[in-house]
Amino acid sequence: MFSRLSRQIAVRMSTTAARAQKLKGKVAIVTASTEGIGFAIARRLGEDGAKVVVSSRKQKNVDKAVDVLKKENLDVCGIVCHVGKKDDRSKLIQKTIDEYGGIDILVSNAAANPTMGPLINCSEDAWDKLFDTNVKATFMLCKEIVPHIEKRGGGSIVIVSSIAGYVSSDAIPAYAVTKTALLGLVKGLVGSLAPKNIRVNGIAPGLIDTKFSAALTGNPDMLKMALPAIPLHRPGIPVECSGIVSFLSSEDASYITGENIVISGGMPSRL
Ligand code: NAP
Repeated sequence: MFSRLSRQIAVRMSTTAARAQKLKGKVAIVTASTEGIGFAIARRLGEDGAKVVVSSRKQKNVDKAVDVLKKENLDVCGIVCHVGKKDDRSKLIQKTIDEYGGIDILVSNAAANPTMGPLINCSEDAWDKLFDTNVKATFMLCKEIVPHIEKRGGGSIVIVSSIAGYVSSDAIPAYAVTKTALLGLVKGLVGSLAPKNIRVNGIAPGLIDTKFSAALTGNPDMLKMALPAIPLHRPGIPVECSGIVSFLSSEDASYITGENIVISGGMPSRL
């Protein structure tokens, strides 16, 4: 039942997307975009007319994602980029400039989740890894890309956080703290970026059916326990996170900055 619904949503959304070209002429970087939510966002930005650079840590995943999207006639290229590595981030930016001549849109989507269980048990190493990948790398990537977006006269940044940033999770509380930090990063960047005509917004997905959430979505008993907290009574699918990112990256959102949009099937989201 759930997979049939997923397919229906995916078909409907991709048909709708095929009609729109609101990002024509724009160049987008999407991190962690070889599968899951990042891949769906890269595909949607491409369908809406953007040239898109996909990336993740593994060359074989980059090659596969680029191949799939090129077969859909989307204008994409790819490069390996572990967002926590400065050298990889520089190469990602340089590749985008070399291939497409500039950058208009950044979608910062990568995250790590190396630890589970009570927050007080989180080790220093796990804490450092979480903050390095999820918070520091996101900030550094924004900082490194802003001058390039500025050269184009402005553009858009979208940061992927999580519903866990609003309502902490007993299972993954340390990860949740980093996602709360990203909600704050969106707010904090507004003042620096508005004079440069760069808008910065965030999305906060709820439970989305990907590899990242497979321990929950792939386990019928766990899923049964999780569903009562979701008013729409199902997990989301990656494509359901993609249209809003295209909207936020487009001129349709020209007066929207500093907002975090929750995509959670109705799960509560107030701090
Ligand atoms: P996913 O399906 O597991 O995909 C993860 C992607 O990230 C892959 O392309 C992976 O490719 C890449 N990746 C992992 N670590 C990376 C790194 N350090 N640098 C660059 N790329 C990296 O995950 P997802 O569920 O789509 O999650 C995407 C984002 O959504 C994350 O920020 C996550 O916190 C957020 N989110 C997810 C959910 C959910 O329920 N799924 C809910 C809320 C928020 P490689 O292995 O090749 O690197």
